[in-house]
Amino acid sequence: MLKLPGLIDPHVHVREPGQIHKEDWDSATQAALAGGVTMILAMPNTRPPVFDAATLDLALDAARQKARCDYAQFVGAGPDNADLLPSLAPRAAGLKMYLDSTFGELRLDDMTLWMPHFANYPKEYPIVLHSESRTMAAGILFAALYDRPVHIAHISLKEEVLLIKAAKERGIKVTCEVCAHHLFLSQDDIPAISSGHPGRAEVRPRLATREDVNSLWENMDVIDCFATDHAPHTLEEKDSENPPGFPGLETLLPLLLTAVDDGRLTIEDIFAKSVINPGNIFHLPEQPGTWIEVEEDAEYEIHASDQFTRCGWTPFESWKVRGKVRKVVLRGKTAFEDGKILAEPGYGENVRK
Ligand SMILES: [Zn+2]
Repeated sequence: MLKLPGLIDPHVHVREPGQIHKEDWDSATQAALAGGVTMILAMPNTRPPVFDAATLDLALDAARQKARCDYAQFVGAGPDNADLLPSLAPRAAGLKMYLDSTFGELRLDDMTLWMPHFANYPKEYPIVLHSESRTMAAGILFAALYDRPVHIAHISLKEEVLLIKAAKERGIKVTCEVCAHHLFLSQDDIPAISSGHPGRAEVRPRLATREDVNSLWENMDVIDCFATDHAPHTLEEKDSENPPGFPGLETLLPLLLTAVDDGRLTIEDIFAKSVINPGNIFHLPEQPGTWIEVEEDAEYEIHASDQFTRCGWTPFESWKVRGKVRKVVLRGKTAFEDGKILAEPGYGENVRK
């Protein structure tokens, strides 16, 4: 048995409030524990989005009652809330800004709407950017102009990892995460994932070229964190409305451990990018009495039918992996063991309380 600290996933879509047929604080945190993740940071693009005190309370009330692992909740930047968000910062995981997508209350149609957020949000709390390609370059310019840390979510492209490398070398306060699906899947995998249903392969950022994927592996030292961007939708939705997003909480660690077995990663990489770095970037407290036990030699196939996520599918269906989470201990209590969730709803703690 390999013993590791509990993993931190800095990018999870819990879907509550508003879309609990896809997932809720109960099922998302069960999926987390089954994947060896003991702390999740929840994204704010729920329905309603988390973008003021009332909606933050709504999300945190649900989490307090249902969460089985520890957590914090992001607030989202909108066109009108830059003045009120700083007062919420101590209660939030950080500020999430959607610089590319334009939807609902979290739309930021032009760069003048970015400015007050960069100016006002307290520098001791992180700003996380959904920003792809050239938009990411603009986000890094803002980090330099306002001399504050920014964390780039889910990088996927060669041009992105190389620009972040250059920005870091010049002392700009930028960090980044990469998702398992952008490390282990490329455009070449789209036919197998979609199998006649194109919506199943939809994800943002899109799956990239083999060259992009290779560049992420070659620049692993530039990447600060592993994340899932766990974004569950039901198969029925994936096959009709084609919403972008993959589930990922239960497949992250087995995929990473398989890469360790293949000699492409080290256990130290997992420790750094799933525990130490997210803890430092997001100023998260340590979880005392918390560890996971992994059977390194266990070989098995990934099947959605074995998973706790409510969405009922995975882009990694039938993948052969090596390394299985056997036990998760969270703050002194066994929370998961041999396929069974043992932590009760509400056992999870808000790490920003
Ligand atoms: Zn996301």
